[in-house]
Amino acid sequence: RATDEQSPVVTVLERIRDEVAPRHEGRVADFIPELAGADPDAFGIAAVSAHGRCYSAGDDAAAFTVQSMSKPFVYAMAIEERGLDDVHQHVGAEPSGEPFNAISLDELGRPENPMINAGAIVTTSLVHGAGPDGRFERIRTALSSFAGRSLSLDEDVYLSEAETGHRNRALGYLSLAGGVLEGSVEEAVQDYFRQCALSVTVLDLAVMAATLASGGVNPVTGERVVSRRTARHTLSVMSSCGMYDRAGEWALRVGIPAKSGVSGGILAAAPGSFGVGVFSPPLDGAGNSVRGVAALERLSEDYDLHMLRIP
Ligand code: GLU
Repeated sequence: RATDEQSPVVTVLERIRDEVAPRHEGRVADFIPELAGADPDAFGIAAVSAHGRCYSAGDDAAAFTVQSMSKPFVYAMAIEERGLDDVHQHVGAEPSGEPFNAISLDELGRPENPMINAGAIVTTSLVHGAGPDGRFERIRTALSSFAGRSLSLDEDVYLSEAETGHRNRALGYLSLAGGVLEGSVEEAVQDYFRQCALSVTVLDLAVMAATLASGGVNPVTGERVVSRRTARHTLSVMSSCGMYDRAGEWALRVGIPAKSGVSGGILAAAPGSFGVGVFSPPLDGAGNSVRGVAALERLSEDYDLHMLRIP
């Protein structure tokens, strides 16, 4: 993917990087032991237009794991395979107002939404696949189509979470007890850990977001990855539930459907215009990248990207 280095967009991205670099608050996630070694000073940002033009600044080659930013794409896969109504018999569509790993089930036994862990594990369990490896391979292939290149597994991060992720196993068992998780909990959780451990760069995130922003067609490769409707459903859930328990604040200050991950990445999709990916490991109290949030606030402001833009 060739990036346009002369464009004024790059000048904007570099200015944003310079503005947010001095912010040193926040903490690198360490509940997955392998994430704790991330460089707290790393910062990268990329934008991809609906026409497939790519721009980046900062550490645009740094690789990190996609973590929770995989959730919207696996949700999109589940919708494509089973339809919206079927998926939502298993998982709700309400912001939980609680942390990502909350024990959060509604009165029907469903996790509150597919962007928190409990709901994402259920969503993974709904994806078809012959045997556990078959399912993960399908997920890897789908996320690769969103990114426009073949994504690979960070084995160390996967194993680190597989050894320590007992809370996620517990969430899986609660959903099984609620009658909404399909098949084996351990297989669903293992595939969920693996989908979270796919390795990406900010450019991958930006292309993935741009694919949603372009109604399901990857603007770089031209491949239709999901239907327009599925892309819209996915953006809807990202806009209400994508930023952990700061979704309301995000709608107020940024107003771009987005999903963050504990590795310090955020992807944001401005429908019809841009996909953005940003990476900086230190997280605020809600688990969102401090510099990533600041950068997206600036970008939304400077480019007038709020989804409720009044013409
Ligand atoms: N794999 C992480 C977990 O399930 C993802 C958390 C996140 O990025 O929010 O705990």
